[in-house]
Amino acid sequence: MNKLPLFLQIPSRQILARFKAMAFLVITALSLMMFCLTAGSAVAEDHHADKKIFSVTDIKPGFHFLQGKGGNILLSNGKEGLLIVDSDYSEMTPALEEALAKFEGGLKYVLNTHWHGDHTQGNQVLGHKAEIIAHDNVYTRLNSRQEVKLFNMVSEPYEEHALPNITFDHSLTLRFNGETIKALHLPNGHTDGDSIIFFENANIVHMGDHYFNGMFPFVDVGSNGSVRGVAKNIAGMLDKIDDNTVVVPGHGPISNKKELIAFREMLIGTANEVERMMEESMPLEGIQEKGLSDQWKKWGNGFLNEKLWISIVHSSLEQDAKK
Ligand SMILES: [Zn+2]
Repeated sequence: MNKLPLFLQIPSRQILARFKAMAFLVITALSLMMFCLTAGSAVAEDHHADKKIFSVTDIKPGFHFLQGKGGNILLSNGKEGLLIVDSDYSEMTPALEEALAKFEGGLKYVLNTHWHGDHTQGNQVLGHKAEIIAHDNVYTRLNSRQEVKLFNMVSEPYEEHALPNITFDHSLTLRFNGETIKALHLPNGHTDGDSIIFFENANIVHMGDHYFNGMFPFVDVGSNGSVRGVAKNIAGMLDKIDDNTVVVPGHGPISNKKELIAFREMLIGTANEVERMMEESMPLEGIQEKGLSDQWKKWGNGFLNEKLWISIVHSSLEQDAKK
């Protein structure tokens, strides 16, 4: 770890205190960044990482699934206009506006499932024309400087027009296009400001980054996220959906309840395995060396590899233990 490139060494008391664990994160951050730069399309088969276009899939009348480069977007169109859940990266905004222009009616609402840039940067242009709705903590985080050390990413405060102008603490109901839309806050999951968006009549739910379909997810422990929290929050959602619910993940293809259950089982199964090894006083490197049991290997082929996932679970369990 002495050979780490200087620019990747982020000096802070916290890092020095937990140097060994963090050094691994720094190394993996580099490999992940390179992965993202060179193989962004691996996040999902149908992503258009370099082309800056959206693929549009019709889900049901009035509902469309848009995949660009960042988080998946759900579009509602109808007599009152357009509403989108999440707004992708700013570099994707021209393509997003082009895709939206194919539908009648202007953009009225943008809902943000959480603060991450791949779900909110589109606000910077779209906020001039639409109302932005999100949980209180999304407002707070977008209104201040944020860091995701794992990705070596910094988010500067957004301008006022790009911030959510309608916020809520627990839940919000919006009636639009003949639909009852419920945004429900889920505490300490992927971050501390995530919401799940239900379209009750259409029976569609946008899970935000509480769900990466078919792959190990990113859980933002630095934003008070928790792997066990994500699993717990999903459990609470399963009662509210049925086998016919269209489940839109934050990343990956359109899904359903059965696959969401499998994702949750993976979260619990892998967290249990890592926790057991931690209880045996095995260091992070040792846990990564030993690895997870074979049944979870396939989840490491999509976005995060197994070693990086183990490091996230490890830091999440450590953070949980401090509470
Ligand atoms: Zn996210």
